[in-house]
Amino acid sequence: MIALTPGVTLTIASHNPGKVREIGELLAPHGVKTISAAQLHLPEPEETGASFAENAILKARAAAEQSGRDALADDSGLCVAVLDGAPGIYSARWAGPKKDFRAAMARVEKEVAAIGSPDTRAYFICVLALAAPDGSVATFEGRVFGTLAFPPRGTNGFGYDPIFVPEGHRMTFGEMDPTIKHAISHRARAFEKFVAAAIAPCR
Ligand code: IMP
Repeated sequence: MIALTPGVTLTIASHNPGKVREIGELLAPHGVKTISAAQLHLPEPEETGASFAENAILKARAAAEQSGRDALADDSGLCVAVLDGAPGIYSARWAGPKKDFRAAMARVEKEVAAIGSPDTRAYFICVLALAAPDGSVATFEGRVFGTLAFPPRGTNGFGYDPIFVPEGHRMTFGEMDPTIKHAISHRARAFEKFVAAAIAPCR
């Protein structure tokens, strides 16, 4: 198991500024510094995996090998019950090359409406992969369950946040204060497992 010591700089294997910001905020309290794949001008590997875990592993391994230091990748997405888990691993791709999440959210709304079911259940999932330059890797998974809300509400967060209401709340992730989202999100849950396994033992 890879163990991270406080003060270490971790490569974040992502070109998504929203994700990189959230990961930096989640790691800062543990004394772990971050540098993103975009800041290092690393190429973005193609996400050819058939699952969140496979994609997280391929991104983390590529960034660790190219940067020469431990790298953390996050593969995440929105899974909608009546769409059999779509957009799922295609969550980013539904936004197209222009990363237009208004269009992606409109597609979710249209496809859910076409099913004609009152079932609005959905969840966000995050799989983190921590890889070392020698190729060794560990994964950690978190989920947050909730329902979909249309039209989109709120300008906080990123991606599909404006259409997702987590269980036990009325606001969408897009309306919530980021500190509340960070306390309950799929990414926060995956991070709890990651911190317990890779950072806490160093103390
Ligand atoms: P990937 O992991 O880079 O393939 O992209 C995952 C995609 O899932 C993101 O581009 C977002 O569209 C969506 N996603 C993942 N996590 C969140 C989140 O916390 N809020 C909103 N959308 C998210």
